[in-house]
Amino acid sequence: MLGYTGKIAYIDLSNQKVEIKPTPFKLAEKFIGGSGLAARLLYDYIKPEIDPLAPEAYVAVMAGPVTGTALPASSRYAVCGRSPLTGYWGEATSGGKFGAYLKRAGFDGLIITGKAQDMVYLEVKNGRVEIKPGSNLKGLDSYEMQEELKKVYGSNVSIAGIGVAGERLMPMAAVMNDHGRAAGRMGFGAVFGSKNLKAIVVDGQGEVPVAAKEELKELAKQLTAAYKKEMELFTQYGTLGYLDIGYYFGDTPVKYFTKGLFPIDKVNARKFREEYSIHPRACWGCPIACGRELNFKGRIVDGPEYETAVTYGPLLENFDMDTIIEANDIANRYGFDTISTGVSLAFLMYLKEENLLPENLKAEVPDFGDSKGILEALRLTGENSGIGQLIGKGVARVAEELGLSQDYAAAVRRLEIPMHEPRAFTGQALSYATGPRGACHLRGSFFEVDLGIAKDPDFGVVPGPRFNLDGRVEAVVKFQSLRELDNCLVKCSFAFTPLKAVVGALSYTTGVAWTPEKVVEAANNSITIKRAISFNLGSSPADDRLPGHVKKPLAEGGAFGNVPEIEKYLPEFYQLRGWNSDGTISREFLARLLADD
Ligand code: SF4
Repeated sequence: MLGYTGKIAYIDLSNQKVEIKPTPFKLAEKFIGGSGLAARLLYDYIKPEIDPLAPEAYVAVMAGPVTGTALPASSRYAVCGRSPLTGYWGEATSGGKFGAYLKRAGFDGLIITGKAQDMVYLEVKNGRVEIKPGSNLKGLDSYEMQEELKKVYGSNVSIAGIGVAGERLMPMAAVMNDHGRAAGRMGFGAVFGSKNLKAIVVDGQGEVPVAAKEELKELAKQLTAAYKKEMELFTQYGTLGYLDIGYYFGDTPVKYFTKGLFPIDKVNARKFREEYSIHPRACWGCPIACGRELNFKGRIVDGPEYETAVTYGPLLENFDMDTIIEANDIANRYGFDTISTGVSLAFLMYLKEENLLPENLKAEVPDFGDSKGILEALRLTGENSGIGQLIGKGVARVAEELGLSQDYAAAVRRLEIPMHEPRAFTGQALSYATGPRGACHLRGSFFEVDLGIAKDPDFGVVPGPRFNLDGRVEAVVKFQSLRELDNCLVKCSFAFTPLKAVVGALSYTTGVAWTPEKVVEAANNSITIKRAISFNLGSSPADDRLPGHVKKPLAEGGAFGNVPEIEKYLPEFYQLRGWNSDGTISREFLARLLADD
């Protein structure tokens, strides 16, 4: 099948062995690629008795069939396995150029296990993988690590690796690539660290073979024209441009999800543009260019995108832009997830304010709005020491250790809720509760549907009343499937691709006549096998819920008064996914997913 390179490298770091196997095309027809194919390939190897940070654990670094092709915004990659943060199925994706280069270096994916005796890195080039000594990289932050490797390889490579947080096995550590891009969520930086794997260097100079080059080019042209028009806000202001819209609709969480209003003019994209010298930054082959770089105190740093600016801003009641930028820089250098660390810190601040923290911790936790205290707490988080150790464990574990109900923890399936208020869009709340990796804004960003940002009328994905899902559960299921496809193909979710275009992209790339039905079935297969893995690891349909903390009505702002009643929609949701009426997965369905044909 074209589009794929046809090769997956299996790397055993304990035994210093690399084995290259053919990409299983029969499975690719069922799960496409990216995180979907990774879930199927890892299904037998992810077991409850194997700790995600044990040498025997596996981590997959995957591209998909459209990655690295002419399709716009198709440069992403996915890191997948068991999450050390949640203990369940985990995946994180990132932009830059790493995914495209991985394909162009000859691989659909790398599947890594074992633990090297000392620090190593991988060199991926021309269809081969070499394990290289990397003890000189030990202790470097993520930017220094990339600079050091570029001294050897020059700048025409892509590097994904970890900073100090990953080396210290911090459960929220990220895999960083292409300067400040991050496969941030779920702690895969710690998995790299546990294997003494500092980085992967990909030298991608080849071509990705596609079946219908001219047709793909024409589709790419049409999509590019649409993105230039529809995503102009991101091109002009970066993702932070969404803040004014989000604020109006109450979609921006404030003070650990307890408020709805804040002085927006202090931290929005206009203010950002007025105060700093900013340059747009695009991932490989992307016409949107939502990334930002800025000159900050004499250094070139990555600009905070929406999620980070809100997490380290309104969520902590911090309205000092310098602090947000500095906090983002700390996160990128140490290499950790901004969303989970910010929510976890906000949780501790909230507990302190509510007098629910033990006395010995109170002095270590800053107050809301304490800029200096926030930066210090984040530094300690990167070091995985002091109060930072507690922050890095995440809200679910913090609640457990403090003997508090999980209703206090702003998380779903132990993954911290990102910066879209579940009370602002009931469809978003249902997506969080049923998401394949827990609370995730990328695998079902239904707020975009109700705002008319992402719509696919031919597929029945259209805006509707944002607080009411009556008669619209199917739209949530369908949109979640479209988002799942982004992570199987693998491409960027900001470049919204309606189903018809997905079918075209897959068919032109692979040469297989994909149909809408087959593509939607593959998305459902992918979501379901990830759910099955999480169930094997101890999750259950009882986790398809929002915590009580975000089910109290807000007294102000654009989400005023709404309590998303998602429970009443779950039976229909399960039925549309082909699951049992109680949310479990039937033996027959699982057997179909696990069959090799
Ligand atoms: S929209 Fe932004 S994140 Fe997505 S590919 Fe383009 S530059 Fe990268």
